[in-house]
Amino acid sequence: MKSNWKNEEAKKLKGDLLKLRVYTSQLLGNNEDLVMHGGGNTSVKIKEKNIFGEEEEILYVKGSGWDLGTIKEQGFSPVKLSALLKLAELPTLTDVDMVKYQRMAMTNPSAPNPSVETILHGIIPYTFVDHTHADAVVIITNTPGGKSRIQEIYGKNMLIVPYVMPGFILAKTIYEMTKNINWDTLDGMILMSHGVFTFDHDPKRAYENMIDIVTKAENYLKKNKAATIKGAKKGKVNALDIAKIRKQISTTWGAPILTRLDDSAASVAFSHLPNVKKITNRGPLTPDHIIRTKRTPIVFSKNLERDLEKYVTDYKAYFKAHNQGEKLLDQAPRWAVLPKEGTLSFGPTPKHLRVIEDITRHTKKAIFQAEQLGGWKALGKADLFEVEYWSLEQAKLSKAGTPKSMQGKVALVTGAASGIGKACVESLVAQGAAVVALDIVKSIQSTFSQKEVVGIQCDVTNSKQIEKVIEQAVLHFGGIDLLVSNAGTFPPSSKIVDMDEKTWQKSMDINLTSHQRLLKMCTPFLELGHDAAVVLIASKNVPAPGPGAAAYSVAKAGLTQLGRIAAMELGEKGIRVNMIHPNAVFDTAIWTEEVLSRRAKNYGLTIEKYKTNNLLKVEVTSTDVANLAIAMLGNTFGKITGAQVPIDGGNDRVI
Ligand code: ZN
Repeated sequence: MKSNWKNEEAKKLKGDLLKLRVYTSQLLGNNEDLVMHGGGNTSVKIKEKNIFGEEEEILYVKGSGWDLGTIKEQGFSPVKLSALLKLAELPTLTDVDMVKYQRMAMTNPSAPNPSVETILHGIIPYTFVDHTHADAVVIITNTPGGKSRIQEIYGKNMLIVPYVMPGFILAKTIYEMTKNINWDTLDGMILMSHGVFTFDHDPKRAYENMIDIVTKAENYLKKNKAATIKGAKKGKVNALDIAKIRKQISTTWGAPILTRLDDSAASVAFSHLPNVKKITNRGPLTPDHIIRTKRTPIVFSKNLERDLEKYVTDYKAYFKAHNQGEKLLDQAPRWAVLPKEGTLSFGPTPKHLRVIEDITRHTKKAIFQAEQLGGWKALGKADLFEVEYWSLEQAKLSKAGTPKSMQGKVALVTGAASGIGKACVESLVAQGAAVVALDIVKSIQSTFSQKEVVGIQCDVTNSKQIEKVIEQAVLHFGGIDLLVSNAGTFPPSSKIVDMDEKTWQKSMDINLTSHQRLLKMCTPFLELGHDAAVVLIASKNVPAPGPGAAAYSVAKAGLTQLGRIAAMELGEKGIRVNMIHPNAVFDTAIWTEEVLSRRAKNYGLTIEKYKTNNLLKVEVTSTDVANLAIAMLGNTFGKITGAQVPIDGGNDRVI
């Protein structure tokens, strides 16, 4: 491992201790092999004068909920060191009291809650204290004879701490172990099955000691031929199988969840291991991962339902064996091994999926390397249970708040690069859905910057492309629950007598046939969806056609009829199909300023009057249409199918 310390960068901070603390915390936090997603913590001790002019020593420690990679000065909680040292002397301290007394000792009440390891940081008598969960070190501690390997690598100047629960117990254990120790003789501390602590009065030395310790572990792994996994070739995954798995896991979870396949070369190779079930049944890389990944993944065989039943039974047995009055959490796995095909992540949002993917990528690597060092040996179930059901760990998860109404759902929207389609994507994301946004224009790939959206270029009149895109969508998010079939085109005005074949056919292809094909190909996935619903964007021209628009109106009338029949055919499967008839939605790609003024002139109206030429005298926007679509896809229309709703500000011909 290389040090990323840069003298020029550090110099710019002009000896400001807190700024230097932020700097090296980010160096640690931006290295996935050291910490991930909120893991690890750091601190700095600073002498400050309080409001009474008295000098106090303040421990600035990482605040709970902050990530080392992105932490800022305000992410550190200032706590009076004298209070922490007193707390360390108490024989016992409950979690509730620890949180309370740490908060009482803070000099800024609006700072975040200090880390659970605050007391430990306090008792280490150095200005800078760095703590990580370095992969290479933990891999070695998690093997048979791990402790003697650590002794062999680091010699007598490394304090080796047996595994105990993080928080007060860990602080107390180290407090007792170091009472009669000369700290200056120590290079650092290694916590078995947990991580590494380094410390120094100099930020660079504290940081680089960490790099040195990890490098020694990496070299040991290399020397002992604990190589990383070699890749394997992708298999052919059936998208419908993934959707079936998602359905089962969502049912167990009690809410719709997203599912993503990791078929990277390393993941596929891991899933090929003949003993994959045995080795993944031993536990996570570090105990704090358990709240994200649970203790073990599910390893699928041929019978999905039986595998999941067994997983749930095993989880309940594990709970029963260790529970001391805690409330049983949901029993759904957070990741799965799909033998020979890769691994799957499960989570309510794309962000959750990413966290699980990152953690399990490191877990798989660690298990593989430890196996070559004599065997992967994770913490025992009792210790892991304690962390999984620890109120201070669970508190991290409950910070997320109440889920949005469409969280965990997957929507597919066509014609998504502009106008109504784009507004639908934005509204769906605002409701918490993950969205696959399709459009014929290439720019769709970058139209949306949100992590919840995948933009894919697709010509909806090309069946092969649709088929491929649906598969991509399912491998990315796990299935399809909601469909907004919106792609359309407005052909040039032409009377029937003048209609050319091409204009007619093109309108039929885009405005009618493409919707039928998309609906057909999505149906097997909608059947496996969660409260599945379809919205077809038709037109006011269906109930109130106009001369010169036969190609458009006939196709949209056909689309409406398709929706009515689909509502009948899909009702018994719980899939709702409703239709929207928008009129005069001018903030779409087809309505340029030039077209608008020409049309307005045609009717002898100003643009403003033309835009609001309806009973309510209001302008209808893409967002208005999207809001109606969201209502139709959600609970408001939960008992309605086959409905046609105009959105036009009121039109006497339609009424
Ligand atoms: Zn830790």
